[in-house]
Amino acid sequence: MKRADLHSHTIMSDGTQTPTAVVELAAKLGLEAIAITDHDTAGGYQEALIAGQKLGVEIVPAVEMSTVLDGQAIDILAYFIDPNHPTFQGLLDRQRNMRKERNRLVLEKLEQLGISITIDEVESKQESNAEQKNVGRVHIGQILVERGLVGDLNEAFDKYLGTDGEAFVRLNNTSPDEAIQAIKEAGGVAVMAHPGLYHRDDLIPTIVEMGLTGIEVNHPDHTEEDKIRYEAFAEQFNLIPTAGSDYHGVRNGQMHHANLGTCTTPYSTVERLRAAANK
Ligand SMILES: [Zn+2]
Repeated sequence: MKRADLHSHTIMSDGTQTPTAVVELAAKLGLEAIAITDHDTAGGYQEALIAGQKLGVEIVPAVEMSTVLDGQAIDILAYFIDPNHPTFQGLLDRQRNMRKERNRLVLEKLEQLGISITIDEVESKQESNAEQKNVGRVHIGQILVERGLVGDLNEAFDKYLGTDGEAFVRLNNTSPDEAIQAIKEAGGVAVMAHPGLYHRDDLIPTIVEMGLTGIEVNHPDHTEEDKIRYEAFAEQFNLIPTAGSDYHGVRNGQMHHANLGTCTTPYSTVERLRAAANK
């Protein structure tokens, strides 16, 4: 059966591989379609599209958008958007500027903790030269690992960069509502990413109300119970159940989430999402 992996990252955000390399891997795995879902940027789409046409892999235009609801960070996957739509692009630009400002504030906090890292150093960890690339906490984390201040990226997030870390900064105030409206304006559909990571199922009905089309039921960090529960949510709220590996490649010798192709959905899911976007 034809399969699709609808969640992956590249060097346009916090992944370690180029869009072309991710598409090559997808072709090798025999995937029919993939979505490159970089954080707040569709900058990898064109390159992936060209590689996909050459290798016979369909590339679903996509972005993973960072939002906040009731103090909880919620990622919204946008599929079948026109990446060049002005409203959508405007929101991504705002998110990119916010990210830059947050990086600056995180480095300030680290400085107060006696850890000196320059923004140039952080940007040097981002391999892409594209204007739409996003630099973030993972790149700062990589430096902390390289300096031996933490053992691995998980520790970097636990100790410094994560929600409970000493250098955590939250600036993002984009609501899922605003993201979903921008996605719709750009002709796409919105899917709630990895609901099992939030432990806030109480927020799901509110987000559904905002115009959600799908929910990521199958994700490498979901337990079997999670999958069953979110499948039931999908049924109850008439959402399209999706799946993705959240592939990031390997950084500091570690695979974040899972390898491409480990969480897949039948190709018919891609057709359902496309049909919903065309409505
Ligand atoms: Zn992701």
